[in-house]
Amino acid sequence: MKDYYPETILELAAEIQLAKLKVDSSRQHIMLNRSKEVRNLCRICYSRPPTTEVQTPEGIEKTCRICRRLYEIGSEIHFKPRYESDTVVFGHLVSPRKLFKREWDAISRYILEIIAGHDDEELEKLEKRRIEYRDLAVIKLDGNLIGPFMASSISLTDACERSARIDLALKKALDKAIKQVFEAVREVSGDNQALKTILQIMFGLMYAGGDDALIFVPSWSSIGFALVVGEEFQLNMGRARGLAIGLATGKSTADIWSLISAASKLMEESKKRIGRNEPSSNCICFDTSDTLTLTGASVISHLEDLRKENLTVQPLRFDGETPNFKQLISLTISEDLEPKKVFRNCYLLSRPDENDMKEEIKHVRRAITESLSVARSMVEKVKGLEDYLIPLSATYAYRQACRKDLSEKARRGFEIVTKLHLSKNGVGYNSSMYSDADRLIKISGGGML
Ligand SMILES: [Zn+2]
Repeated sequence: MKDYYPETILELAAEIQLAKLKVDSSRQHIMLNRSKEVRNLCRICYSRPPTTEVQTPEGIEKTCRICRRLYEIGSEIHFKPRYESDTVVFGHLVSPRKLFKREWDAISRYILEIIAGHDDEELEKLEKRRIEYRDLAVIKLDGNLIGPFMASSISLTDACERSARIDLALKKALDKAIKQVFEAVREVSGDNQALKTILQIMFGLMYAGGDDALIFVPSWSSIGFALVVGEEFQLNMGRARGLAIGLATGKSTADIWSLISAASKLMEESKKRIGRNEPSSNCICFDTSDTLTLTGASVISHLEDLRKENLTVQPLRFDGETPNFKQLISLTISEDLEPKKVFRNCYLLSRPDENDMKEEIKHVRRAITESLSVARSMVEKVKGLEDYLIPLSATYAYRQACRKDLSEKARRGFEIVTKLHLSKNGVGYNSSMYSDADRLIKISGGGML
């Protein structure tokens, strides 16, 4: 520590850089297989012989003693205490065990299902296969250019203040998002259901510290969550910095590690294209899939394919220049961007029973698919139209939006499609948010649409 702060920080930066470049040789030694038969190995570490067993959600696995102990510690110290202890949520004393009406041993294998939004009643239906698995969302977020933000501190006091500000900005933002979810669910389904939802979200808070966080939430709440956390973080930082966000969803039975790597890649993509150049903006990339589990590699190739077809404009800035994230939300799931309204609509979309909100949004998805498939068949029949797929689909949507023989809701669906076709100064061009809208709706339905 020197009395001249900039000198201190320069030396520190140099040392950190050196430490990052240094390579230590691994202490692990490779065990040679000297026997002629196929050797059995522990199913977790694949490096020691299996001597015992572990009960996992996928069944009984043969493992070594060390892995078994690690597995037990993992399940006991993380989720179990959270499940068995009482907490105070917005003035209500809640005990997850009483609220979900099951003991830990009976519920521990359903942790991811709970985080995805299933409650005790739905778990029962799930066991009898009377309900679909819900979708789980992984949100990864990171502050834009926080390094330079810290490095431009003018004194040690300033550096401490900035560090605390970043940490608090993120925590306050998460707190606000949780509060809005609580209010929204309470309005629709009452206190009990709202408390269950908050517990589901709290189970999924993996880490949040400094300028980054990894959060698992029910898919239906994830779009609202990203919106509120981004906006609040930016406000708490005096609009000097925003967040880069990656959001990936999949069935609660999907491989969680793949989803995490997908969310990380999507976050990097937002950061690379927007965050680094406009650090004060919030930006987001999101993806979901019906058929396969997303991975880091699959989300990037999916994004590139969609770009070639002019169906996406991700990553999206939250606001400012159009097209942007808020515009997309207001066109699809909630015209009113007030957080509580957004959460409320998404909550309704993700209920197992039919309702008006679900019917309306299904018309939007249907209109997107129909407009595109009509345009595709035109392009196939007539030569030279290849570059006009998007304008053609929009033209079809314009016509459908005026047809008297269609229902009001169907017409509204097509009207939205015309707005998802992008234009500048009133002139439409070959680009759209069709796929962005479709996936945003699917994510908000949380697997129940
Ligand atoms: Zn092992």
